Amino acid sequence: MGVEVDNEYGGAGCNFMTCIQVVEEISKVCPGVGALVDIHNTLVNPVIRNYGNKEQKEKYLPLLSTKMVGSFAITEPSSGSDAFALRTVAKKDGSDYVINGSKMWISNSDIAGVFLVFANANPSAGYKGITCFIVDRDTPGFTIHKPENKLGIICSGTCMLSFDNVRVPESSILGEFGQGYKISISVLNEGRIGIASQMLGCAQGCFDATIPYTLERQQFGQPVYNFQGMQHQVAQIATQIEMARLLTYNAARIKESGKPFIKEAAMAKYWASEVAQQATIKCIDWMGGVGFTKDFIQEKFYRDAKIGAIYEGTSNIQLNTVAKQIEREFKK
Ligand SMILES: Cc1cc2nc3c(=O)[nH]c(=O)nc-3n(C[C@H](O)[C@H](O)[C@H](O)COP(=O)(O)OP(=O)(O)OC[C@H]3O[C@@H](n4cnc5c(N)ncnc54)[C@H](O)[C@@H]3O)c2cc1C
Repeated sequence: MGVEVDNEYGGAGCNFMTCIQVVEEISKVCPGVGALVDIHNTLVNPVIRNYGNKEQKEKYLPLLSTKMVGSFAITEPSSGSDAFALRTVAKKDGSDYVINGSKMWISNSDIAGVFLVFANANPSAGYKGITCFIVDRDTPGFTIHKPENKLGIICSGTCMLSFDNVRVPESSILGEFGQGYKISISVLNEGRIGIASQMLGCAQGCFDATIPYTLERQQFGQPVYNFQGMQHQVAQIATQIEMARLLTYNAARIKESGKPFIKEAAMAKYWASEVAQQATIKCIDWMGGVGFTKDFIQEKFYRDAKIGAIYEGTSNIQLNTVAKQIEREFKK
């Protein structure tokens, strides 16, 4: 849970590529657990590592590396793709801030001990008033509602949050006042590579669980894998998964080298999410009737694959990002 957190704070001290591969490996088995590990490692920990002060790092990083899960809360009922239209406010009161509003779809929130909450502390300044606050689970006035009844990644608890005069000290601001926009943009670009990795693991895990069945299952006196109609589909999906892997690792590599990676991260997330959906559908096809039952893992991967094209920016939003970056490159 502290893949990139420095050893001095109890983390594993690994690099971003390792973090991405941890998410991929876990998602090969359960993309729901992959979501939990990914959001914790590619959104929550990086914000504290990159923007937290000494006290915040000393207080939270050891906990987040060992026994506490974190949540990243930006989405609201009325602001999803247009995330910076958020309405949650934080009003200064003496040396405290008082937070009022609500958040929706917040992953890990059923069990998280700490929440990174984006609220506008100066609405007259528009998005430049958005500020990131650390809110502990047991803070008075803070309510975590029951988990949503979802299609997939069911073990990753997703809840609505309410803030009713939630009082936090000024020292709970992460980074600087009004820096919330910058913080969330930078970390969400990184997080998209994490979701690409989750979807890559989902696709590969489903594929790996399916091919042995097609080699065993006999029809017309031979394994169904023997039919060229099957083999071509398998080869196409394997190629698409490999493309998703290369895009994902390439985006991670560029990020690690310190170069701009916004376009590559959006491409990786877009492609891996589409491939996960395609691959899991095909795996069910290759299993025949049993693939349509809950007795086999394929239907779980199929349901878990759907989220990739929705959270941390829908596929449309990824395509908008890619197109905007291309326009910038050509207008330079
Ligand atoms: C399971 C789950 C977990 C989540 N976890 C978190 C979390 O931990 N923290 C958090 O802050 N949020 C989280 N979210 C929220 C998630 O990021 C949003 O749901 C997502 O960004 C989409 O917002 P929306 O649901 O409001 O859809 P909308 O923004 O209402 O989009 C509806 C449709 O309109 C399209 N659309 C919108 N704007 C455009 C545009 N400009 N161009 C083209 N098409 C557009 C979208 O692509 C989509 O198809 C989670 C969501 C889910 C479902």
